[in-house]
Amino acid sequence: MSIIAEKVTKTYGNQHALNGVSFQIEKGQIVGFLGPNGAGKSTMMKIITCYIPPTSGKVSVCGFDVMEQSTQAKKHIGYLPELNPLYTDMYVREYLSFVGGMYKIQNLKSRVEEMIETVGLQPEAHKKIETLSKGYRQRVGLAQALIHDPEVLILDEPTSGLDPNQLVEIRNLIVQVGKTKTVMLSTHIMQEVEAMCDKAFIIDRGNIVANNLDIQELAKEGKRLEEIFKDATRK
Ligand code: ADP
Ligand code: MG
Repeated sequence: MSIIAEKVTKTYGNQHALNGVSFQIEKGQIVGFLGPNGAGKSTMMKIITCYIPPTSGKVSVCGFDVMEQSTQAKKHIGYLPELNPLYTDMYVREYLSFVGGMYKIQNLKSRVEEMIETVGLQPEAHKKIETLSKGYRQRVGLAQALIHDPEVLILDEPTSGLDPNQLVEIRNLIVQVGKTKTVMLSTHIMQEVEAMCDKAFIIDRGNIVANNLDIQELAKEGKRLEEIFKDATRK
């Protein structure tokens, strides 16, 4: 298993964001983490990526506990946070070198060029990040998430705010990258999960309400994710 979450809770003051969330994500899969706004998606992803601690429960990534072995866990995790916070006054190469430097990557210069090619940034790579379109900024965000060659990618609403062309390009890029990695991506768009993912989880108000749905099986059975989502989140 690439990710194991066991009875994870998180409270912010008296706000319950996660109420005992458990799930497992198999190596090599692209998994959709679906839920309405405020469901707890970003909170769960911040816990997996060692940004915030859970209130209780356990999470491991590639066998490493995110609390007790966070240094090892982080080596296996690439993270594209919601709203993709970038240093917008940096140039693309400068930024990627900066991130790569934090991971102490060998041959950093060639690794940065490799990432630029992988995510299709070549035409924009000489520019400052602030001058890039949202779609190209997402490519920079993906490049920084990939630069240390992690086994697991955590992408928080990677396609939100993109125009239709950019959307298709970024989805294709994620599927391409996902061939060799475990990907967990959050979204509230059902069609996106049907188009990209092997499995799906649905979270609502801090609870997993549908666990490990097999997207191909659903398609074979003629079931629509949208219906399952409506049923699961109505209760
Ligand atoms: P999602 O990403 O699914 O939209 P979040 O994980 O961002 O959901 O939020 C889950 C719940 O926790 C929401 O009710 C949100 O308002 C609350 N929440 C998130 N972050 C904080 C915070 N730092 N302080 C207080 N409440 C928060
Ligand atoms: Mg969120």
